[in-house]
Amino acid sequence: MVPASSIAAALWSGPGLLAGWHVALAFTALLLVRSFTTYWLHRLFHVWKWLWRIHKVHHADTVIDCTTALRNHPFEALATTALAAATVVLLGPTPVIVAAVEAVLLVANFWQHAAIRLPDGLARRTEWLLITPRLHILHHARTRPDHDSNFGDIVSLWDRMFGTFNPPRTETVAAGLCDEDAGAHSLPHQLASPFRT
Ligand SMILES: [Zn+2]
Repeated sequence: MVPASSIAAALWSGPGLLAGWHVALAFTALLLVRSFTTYWLHRLFHVWKWLWRIHKVHHADTVIDCTTALRNHPFEALATTALAAATVVLLGPTPVIVAAVEAVLLVANFWQHAAIRLPDGLARRTEWLLITPRLHILHHARTRPDHDSNFGDIVSLWDRMFGTFNPPRTETVAAGLCDEDAGAHSLPHQLASPFRT
């Protein structure tokens, strides 16, 4: 939904603030703005009660792998889509740049949820800039202080800047939500979960 609507927004809105920028600069600027706005939307999903009910569908997964990246309530997908389209309308990049940025963000989304363990040395060298699976798994930990950290989607910069960075651990992290295990793998249960008190 997000790539299609973002590209449609670029076709509809035409050139904007990024018009005339070198393609590499426009790509980097859009990637950073998309990452920054997504970081704050993600934080909002955690602090506002109604948004958390929607976002819990993503966090209820007890086995974190690439499929978790696509496990979102339709209402969350709508909010993410609207924010992405609004960002594109505001900045006015070309549709090709939008497609490239959305492709990178999609891959980053699969990457951070991937059931991959990087060698420690390689992970340490990349985490000053990028979110790795071992950083993002902490965001899926069952304990609230942990899943209120590491909100970033591609860069770890925003978490470091705004005090939500949680350093990686060596021990295994149990994923899921303590109060959602019973229906964690039931589609009807998950779709209805925002409406349950
Ligand atoms: Zn979250």
